[in-house]
Amino acid sequence: MTLQKNEIKGIVIKSTGSWYRVRAENNTEVFEARIVGKFRLQNMVLTNPVAVGDEVMMQLERGDWLIKKILPRRNYVARQSPRQKHQLHLLAANIEQTILFVTIVEPMLKVGFIDRFLLMTEPQNIPTIIVFNKSDLFSKSKEGRQFFENISNIYQKIGYETIALSSVSGEGIATLRQLLKDKTTLIAGQSGVGKSSAINAIEPTLNLRTGEISDYSGKGQHTTTFAEMHPLSFGGFLIDTPGIKTLAFNNLEALDVAQNFREFFELSSDCKFGGSCLHRNEPQCAIKNALTEGGVAESRYQSYLQILEEIEKQNYWELHKDF
Ligand code: GDP
Ligand code: ZN
Repeated sequence: MTLQKNEIKGIVIKSTGSWYRVRAENNTEVFEARIVGKFRLQNMVLTNPVAVGDEVMMQLERGDWLIKKILPRRNYVARQSPRQKHQLHLLAANIEQTILFVTIVEPMLKVGFIDRFLLMTEPQNIPTIIVFNKSDLFSKSKEGRQFFENISNIYQKIGYETIALSSVSGEGIATLRQLLKDKTTLIAGQSGVGKSSAINAIEPTLNLRTGEISDYSGKGQHTTTFAEMHPLSFGGFLIDTPGIKTLAFNNLEALDVAQNFREFFELSSDCKFGGSCLHRNEPQCAIKNALTEGGVAESRYQSYLQILEEIEKQNYWELHKDF
């Protein structure tokens, strides 16, 4: 690509919504830039048109760097905006994998959250690894360890890698480093699951602020209010994201959900209604059969039904808003 005068190609490493930090492609020089114009995705308005990981063209105009163009995204992770349900919020773009942090205790696991998260990465075919963090806590009891094995199995069986991790005992830290090495990884989770502590264990120089108030000096520490890409000393980049409270799917249709529960999709060719089966009351449904035979996990099916119901409820109010 030939660059115009005063033009730089870069990669967005931090996005606050009003300004963007961009690292030049050819060196480590960093710029603060703004955007001009409107950008859309899936026909929906974006709360943040430019995401961390985006490759952009910037131009210097009257002393300000302006993002003029976003290069085509190889992929992206987008969620329904928590504040404006008709808008999408981009978590990151151009990533190679995602790591979802969850806990089994402290805080207690919400299995449905895993399924919701996977519904964000699956449409883009982004590999997702599930980290069961604070393993020092759930490993204390036989029941805790058994619970981990059971839940791990559900996701491993359908092709998601899982690991037990603890920044207290050190379990899994070496494995996680290996997984991150030389890749661009989005790391996400609900707040309090120990994501920052784990990142600090992997890369101490980042010195991310953690939940321990007594440890917090307020000096020289990052906060995770906005997504930010950090280079890893052993190779690769990590995109840390703010804690997610809930995930809703106003942007999806019921059939999108069916197609992105990967094991449902795989089985759906055996449903009487094939690709149009919603796996609820339809006759001869392969998913419902697999459910009774134990091939499909009950918890996955329950998450699925709940998401469908939410989408339908939203559509219902939408249809009747002028009634
Ligand atoms: P974040 O909100 O996901 O970034 O979570 P933090 O890293 O701030 O951790 C939240 C709380 O969990 C803090 O009190 C940490 O000390 C604690 N914590 C983090 N990792 C572990 C762990 O592996 N084991 C235990 N027992 N506690 C942890
Ligand atoms: Zn079906």
